[in-house]
Amino acid sequence: MLDYDLHCHSTVSDGLLPPTELVARAAERGVKMLALTDHDGVSGLAEAAAAAAQHGMRFINGVEISVSWRSHTLHIVGLHIDPAYPPLVTGLQGIRDGRGARAQLMADALARIGIGGALAGAYHFAGNREMIGRTHFARFLVESGHCKDVRSVFKNYLVKGKPGYVPHQWANLADAVSWINGSGGVAVLAHPGRYMAGRKKMGSTTLRELLREFVELGGRGIEVVSGSHTPEQYAEFARYAKEFGLLASCGSDFHGPGESYRDLGRLPDLPLDCQPVWSAWETKT
Ligand code: AMP
Ligand code: MN
Ligand code: MN
Ligand code: MN
Repeated sequence: MLDYDLHCHSTVSDGLLPPTELVARAAERGVKMLALTDHDGVSGLAEAAAAAAQHGMRFINGVEISVSWRSHTLHIVGLHIDPAYPPLVTGLQGIRDGRGARAQLMADALARIGIGGALAGAYHFAGNREMIGRTHFARFLVESGHCKDVRSVFKNYLVKGKPGYVPHQWANLADAVSWINGSGGVAVLAHPGRYMAGRKKMGSTTLRELLREFVELGGRGIEVVSGSHTPEQYAEFARYAKEFGLLASCGSDFHGPGESYRDLGRLPDLPLDCQPVWSAWETKT
């Protein structure tokens, strides 16, 4: 069992725990190396790093950047980044700036199907107003009795083809990779299995085109073990990692107790033939 968890969220984006509590939970669960990867923001990293130091835990600065590629939304995790790198700071600010207007459009869309008060309701759940997103709307829809849990809200309201879904233009892939690489980090394609499921599935040909482009742009890693992958997918994405010469990462994608596929840490080992992503920084002098 790996003691490394390189993907999770705090109240700085759409997680339920503030950075200090998240780190304490990870420590309790035996995590030895943790990366905090909030969506489109790095403002939780200093607090998390300080908490990790208290617990004697290795901490890696991370981020999860929202990207639009062709007709798909992708998430690119940056690990071992410098959160003060100006192009990264400016780029992430640009993404966050788009979230407010999108939230208004989502609330308007929900109002059209008779669900009022969604904007204020969603903001009520946002620990960081700049990072308002679908998860906050989902929590409001659960609280107001429209759905039994967050997962069914997504399925019925917030994904492509459903009434509360609003298309949005995120960062482009080249920019996201260059902000991460320029800051000294490693760019990792997050939870590839998620892009190959759902209504607008990406097929393996498109995934290969994506991976080729990602590598050309300087992308260096792929999540093999993810909270949203099945054991079969660990093997599948280990094969893609090998085919494209990518480092393999692992992370729970934990958002909060009771809300996520997996809790922090205690992840299965990476398949044996994978080159782990931490070799990118462990070997640095
Ligand atoms: P946003 O960046 O505002 O579009 O929100 C994306 C977030 O919504 C993801 O990071 C997940 O936390 C959450 N999410 C997306 N799809 C689902 C789903 N099917 N079930 C539960 N949460 C989801
Ligand atoms: Mn999320
Ligand atoms: Mn994600
Ligand atoms: Mn995530």
